[in-house]
Amino acid sequence: MRFRAVRGARGTALAVVLAVCAVVTGCTAQPSMPKPSATTASTAAVDPSVREGPTVARARLASDQYDYDRALALLQPLVSPAALRLAAEVREAKRTARAWPHDSAVSHLFFHSLIVDPARAFDGDADAAGYDDYMVTLAEFQKVLRSLYARGFVLVSPHDLASLDGSHRMRYRPIVLPRGRTPIVLSQDDVDYYRHQEGDGLASDLALRGGRVVSTYRDRNGTTRFGAYDVAPVVDAFVQQHPDFSYRGHKGVLALTGYEGVLGYRTSAIRDARNPHLAADRAQAKRVADALKQEGWEFASHSWGHIDDTTASVGRLQRDSARWNAEVRPITGPTDLYVYPFGADISGVAPYSGAKYAVLERYGFRYFFGIDGSQPAWQQLHGSSLRQARIDIDGIRLRGGASGRETVLRRFFDPRAVLDRARPRR
Ligand SMILES: [Zn+2]
Repeated sequence: MRFRAVRGARGTALAVVLAVCAVVTGCTAQPSMPKPSATTASTAAVDPSVREGPTVARARLASDQYDYDRALALLQPLVSPAALRLAAEVREAKRTARAWPHDSAVSHLFFHSLIVDPARAFDGDADAAGYDDYMVTLAEFQKVLRSLYARGFVLVSPHDLASLDGSHRMRYRPIVLPRGRTPIVLSQDDVDYYRHQEGDGLASDLALRGGRVVSTYRDRNGTTRFGAYDVAPVVDAFVQQHPDFSYRGHKGVLALTGYEGVLGYRTSAIRDARNPHLAADRAQAKRVADALKQEGWEFASHSWGHIDDTTASVGRLQRDSARWNAEVRPITGPTDLYVYPFGADISGVAPYSGAKYAVLERYGFRYFFGIDGSQPAWQQLHGSSLRQARIDIDGIRLRGGASGRETVLRRFFDPRAVLDRARPRR
């Protein structure tokens, strides 16, 4: 959505020189899997430690990410001392791990695109107040991640919480974690890189460099940089350093609209009919989407036109869903996740029924996400659907937390420590 212009937005933000190199480091980190080289091939024939090294590394990653059965299956045929030691560790970890109790709802935090250069975002123009209210800076997001990790949170997928059984009823699934670890879902909305954000100090798309997903970011000097400048590449870099922040490689949900294109590519045949590169842009968006899925990200519909589903007629919801299905689903692939724009659910807290639900169900959606920042977590399992409330992490909520007016965020991080001093003073 485009921010409404708010008159009287205050002031010039402090110029902050971003430590860009520190941000990008994760993107250039070494792959976690050692590869056998030609020179070790002959040694490998006699030395099981060398021969089994890569498999032991894979098993360690699986175990770090709480997939104990997969780790044990990988280690089962191995004989090296390192493999035997790790197998004993994994058996012990599996024995002491616990299933997250189903009656305890899982928290879900969501973000918009990150502000990389606060000086350009908070420059007092028509969009500045919207950025200040609805978005977080790159520095704030990194602090949030570090705090979540330090407090034992682990990124899970909504599909880890529950799934459909053979008779199409949604059932809770066990999330098995060590004591002291808490599952959490993370998502990002829109992820289309609105045209009106150009020049405001945000990334402009998600792209591929050396097979990895990076953000494209044009800095204040006009230099184009590729690196970790938005949610997905920043989380990817963080998990590469801290694999145990991710449950079985799962990262989060990217909720996409269609009318402005997706992932920074102008892919809408309706809106961008005159884009001469429409087919190439769609193909590139699909390559990036495929790579994101490979990295553990999932996609959700955020409606095609960022519509208000509470007030939309059944006919409008039907037309909008058909457009998303035609323009976005071919790029993302199948999804059963639906993130309500504005958090505008089709129902209150009553379980789903009726004509609007029938439309969303017909398009394959089974997991639904509204917004409720008043409590740490809320979810509802009913029939063939799961609903989960999300907490918006943005300027409004950070300021509310920092001033002590709101307390919900304290479970996740200290809002006063997170709030960026480069934000306009209010
Ligand atoms: Zn949105």
